[in-house]
Amino acid sequence: MFDVHLHLFPPEITCCIDKYTAKDPFLHQICSSKGHKYATVEDLLQVMERCGVEMAAVSGFAAKDQGLCRLMNDYVLEAARRYPRRLLAMAVVSPEQPGFAQEIRRAAEEGAAGVGELFPWGQGFPLEGKEADRLAGLCREGNLPLLLHVNEIVGHHYTGKGDISIKEAAFFASNHAEQDIIFAHWGGGLLFYELMPELHRQFQRVWYDTAAGPFLYDKKIYRVIREIGVLPRVLLGTDYPLISPLRYRREMEEAGLTPAEIAMICSENARRLFFSTEQHMHAD
Ligand SMILES: [Zn+2]
Repeated sequence: MFDVHLHLFPPEITCCIDKYTAKDPFLHQICSSKGHKYATVEDLLQVMERCGVEMAAVSGFAAKDQGLCRLMNDYVLEAARRYPRRLLAMAVVSPEQPGFAQEIRRAAEEGAAGVGELFPWGQGFPLEGKEADRLAGLCREGNLPLLLHVNEIVGHHYTGKGDISIKEAAFFASNHAEQDIIFAHWGGGLLFYELMPELHRQFQRVWYDTAAGPFLYDKKIYRVIREIGVLPRVLLGTDYPLISPLRYRREMEEAGLTPAEIAMICSENARRLFFSTEQHMHAD
């Protein structure tokens, strides 16, 4: 399996988390929520071993403060250097704050394979306008897929759920049709709108991950995406340490996907996305 959406916290941040959350209401909200867990690289590697996850694209946690983002990035970049065959680093940045372009470029130079997970609502940046265009431009310049949090605009409330949703995500994707964008959490339901032919055409570089799916949708969603025709752009994202990868695969099996379809979602699609260019290939 290849997991594209998971969060690690550097132990030196976890140990004095109150110091950091005091200045960041969104981070505070996430870290003080009931189900929140912290995982280190070592924790993750054990779970990967146990569950049969070969590759993981790991993020820290995107904060409002650029300096804190940088600390998160240092941790995942170092982890990816230590385990080049198992881990890819995703860089987090704060697009409205000074130094964000430098941080994307720095992370790319140090081997980042993508940018994200970013939280437009939680970090307080819009998906339209100058900074959003700049973000897409920098990702494109570095050939970096961009993982963006999107949640449903309806349904039950949960921590981290904000009101930047499918409308803003669709606008951003249409404006940057040449950029690989992963919309997290099934794109907040945006994928259902790929039944509209013009969106399906525009969204050929839009990917959707399954993160937190078991808390959001009936597992029938796996049959629905096959029918809509987006299965080749769906990626396994676990939101580890929130949910085990095995639970996702079990739901795919129970929903009746074929082994070949499960292999696409669990691994092949992500390999196509991250390894389609030489530049991201790790020397074996
Ligand atoms: Zn998310």
